Amino acid sequence: MSQVESKLTLEQGRTQPQAAPKAGELSLERGLAAFRAEVDGPVAAFFSSCVHCGICAQACPFYLETGDPKYTPILKLEPLRRVWENDFTLLGKIKGKLGLQQKVTDAMLAEWEELLYDSCSMCGRCSMVCPVGNDLALMIRKSREGMVQAGHAPEGLIAASVRAIQTGSPMGLQWKTLAVQINHVQTSSGLEVPVDKDGAEYLVLLSSMEIINFPEYLEAITKIFDHAGVTWTLSTQCFEATNAGIQIGNKDIAAQLVERVVAAAEKLKVPKVISPECGHAFTAIRWEGPNLIGRPYPFKVFHIIEVLDELRAAGRIKTEGMETDRLSMHDPCNLARKSGVIQQQRNLMNLVAENFVELKEHGKFQWCCGAGGGVSSNERAEPLKMAAFKRKKAQIEEVNPERMVTMCATCRTQLEEGLEEFNMEIPVVGLTEMIAEHLVEKN
Ligand code: SF4
Ligand code: SF4
Repeated sequence: MSQVESKLTLEQGRTQPQAAPKAGELSLERGLAAFRAEVDGPVAAFFSSCVHCGICAQACPFYLETGDPKYTPILKLEPLRRVWENDFTLLGKIKGKLGLQQKVTDAMLAEWEELLYDSCSMCGRCSMVCPVGNDLALMIRKSREGMVQAGHAPEGLIAASVRAIQTGSPMGLQWKTLAVQINHVQTSSGLEVPVDKDGAEYLVLLSSMEIINFPEYLEAITKIFDHAGVTWTLSTQCFEATNAGIQIGNKDIAAQLVERVVAAAEKLKVPKVISPECGHAFTAIRWEGPNLIGRPYPFKVFHIIEVLDELRAAGRIKTEGMETDRLSMHDPCNLARKSGVIQQQRNLMNLVAENFVELKEHGKFQWCCGAGGGVSSNERAEPLKMAAFKRKKAQIEEVNPERMVTMCATCRTQLEEGLEEFNMEIPVVGLTEMIAEHLVEKN
């Protein structure tokens, strides 16, 4: 039994345990079956319509910054393409009869593990430029389902998935860690951090990175919601919004993590759930969640930036003073490109920053920081992650800001690490905190 197999059994992640295989059953056969199960109309349309123009390569920071043709987006999909051709097309079947099929082998999947995980942040920029409208990021997501079942997923993502299933948190954080943060926030702000409050308007979710790296986020929302008269609560049952199942590519794990959020929201009878400053957590809960669990939610999901902008528009956030230094902003891929949340963060920036300058390519066409899609949980991918960051670095150099602002803890960490790596002394701040710093004090 391989190390991977012993760590990630499907049993650990399966919501329907009746068909759970035992440890050691991850195999090429299981992987091929999972690839086949992912083949649907969009997959058939994708491979039938791809004209091999290579335009997707020009959108990918991993390809552009390494110059290595193996990181071309379309090439990353070769295992899925072969399964589709071999098993679902007449040509593939004829080739099979003649012994001419290009088979997917275990060695091939071992080689493609780097291409499908380390060199792809699932940023979706390639999907934006394909002239025939192919969604490459969706195909990467589907391919990862096959890779996990074949036992070819990175150790870091496996470990994060196992911790997420065991504790609800990819970093293995428990409530007692958050309780310490809550005490700090309450002492520092003099405000109550509500916990397990039935019938509050919002259930607030956090990410591990916020709890560990950016505890100022919790203090910021505590102040803003007090200021705006919003009722909200944390849940001891579920406080994490992140979803390691989406990143590794396992629907069962992803569904189980979404179910935790849904159960907590239902128990507290909240009408609205807030995803934190975390890109993939938002797309997981907002867009993939209902399909993963097979039913609609009895609540609505918002990103914190959407909520803050709604409060701003309703006149419920009153600020004073403006940031005077030159600020620029990084749009998280999952928020801007994949979810269309673009104007909201600009409305908020303009509320408190008088010298805000846009990166040249921003909004839908912004460049990924390089850390999303599980790349930041995959230690092996560190050199590629930093290579991809060079595209963001070049964008930042073009406008030469004194500080960068963003609204995703993963992006923020990557910006901080990347800027430090390249000796650029540009601090990075979270937008929610910046708003909190400008609130008009209550009388
Ligand atoms: S989703 Fe982003 S990182 Fe992945 S292949 Fe496309 S452009 Fe490259
Ligand atoms: S841009 Fe679209 S059509 Fe061109 S190679 Fe990439 S996936 Fe195929």
